[in-house]
Amino acid sequence: MSRTYAVIAEIRGDRLRQVTFEALGAAAQMAKPDDRIIVLVIGFQLAEDTIQSLMIPGIAQVSCADDERYKYYEAETYFAALHAFTEQQSPDVVLLGHTAMGRDLAPMLAAQLHTGQISDVVSIRADDSDTTFLRPVYAGKAFETRRFANQARPWIITVRPNNFTPVTQQAGLLPTHESIQQPQVDSLLAPAPSLRTVVHEVVTKMSGSVDLSEAKIIISGGRGVKSAEGFKPLEQLARVLNGAVGASRGACDAGYCDYSLQIGQTGKVVTPEIYFACGISGAIQHIAGMSQARIIVAINIDPEAPIFKVANYGIVGDLFEVVPLLTEQFRKLLS
Ligand SMILES: Cc1cc2nc3c(=O)[nH]c(=O)nc-3n(C[C@H](O)[C@H](O)[C@H](O)COP(=O)(O)OP(=O)(O)OC[C@H]3O[C@@H](n4cnc5c(N)ncnc54)[C@H](O)[C@@H]3O)c2cc1C
Repeated sequence: MSRTYAVIAEIRGDRLRQVTFEALGAAAQMAKPDDRIIVLVIGFQLAEDTIQSLMIPGIAQVSCADDERYKYYEAETYFAALHAFTEQQSPDVVLLGHTAMGRDLAPMLAAQLHTGQISDVVSIRADDSDTTFLRPVYAGKAFETRRFANQARPWIITVRPNNFTPVTQQAGLLPTHESIQQPQVDSLLAPAPSLRTVVHEVVTKMSGSVDLSEAKIIISGGRGVKSAEGFKPLEQLARVLNGAVGASRGACDAGYCDYSLQIGQTGKVVTPEIYFACGISGAIQHIAGMSQARIIVAINIDPEAPIFKVANYGIVGDLFEVVPLLTEQFRKLLS
């Protein structure tokens, strides 16, 4: 029996977030050739480019909930759209990014539909007889494998950013879907819920041009940077590597940078390809937010700093000497 996989897209500015394409990759990993993969996009005055970026071979349908009430993310209005979509499409699996929006909406949907949810999934193992989901627990110190119980329908999953291969327009979702070039685009308008709160204004704090939670390279500073000025060499390295700047809570608490940069248990959880920890001691709460990085490079004057226990590469030295040297070398290499 064919199944329907519904991916809930997420927009930042007027483009789709990378995690949307990664969730499509996760769906493609589970889907069989005769399954359907469909997408819901919620927003206001959706850009043509946004919809065009979903013209991917293998996507059967793109539903757009485009209305002024979706101008800002608001749990009640977005949930109304998501619920109307699931009522209409009856998907077997719903996938969202494990982002602020996904973490908000997925449990609401699971509760409403009396079904189960597996969140923060980092890998999926699917074969003919079984599908299991791997997710980190205990702040990343262990992993657990979960599966849905027989009676759970639909399955609701949130996928951690930077863990699934994103689909591309060139490759499509599945080789067998190559012939489907144009997904059907339809519009969806959910009944307006009676709102209890209304978003008045959204003020965006930017951590530079690269989104921290989706960055492939992150240069993070801790209390060792010693001042707001001390972040300058890190910002220069980030510019050369097209990375984002992050921070420990120590640096945020000291007022060297904004809390929107904080990585860790009470900050953002990131999974970049390379994570530079500069002047960060490696407290367990910080490790919880970055231990899934593919490569960790630690720069610290203290050879006993705990960060070296999780680092793939350790440089014992003064960050104010090491970081500019790295910047210079990378600039030469990349020019
Ligand atoms: C409930 C709770 C939640 C928390 N959540 C988080 C969280 O989400 N994220 C987080 O990061 N922390 C969190 N913390 C705080 C955490 O416990 C640590 O206090 C914090 O991570 C320390 O930050 P730091 O490594 O920058 O500072 P420090 O521990 O002070 O380390 C500074 C490091 O810089 C090195 N250094 C100094 N000068 C230089 C130099 N010139 N060059 C190179 N190295 C240098 C030092 O050797 C030292 O290792 C939390 C704590 C609690 C209790």
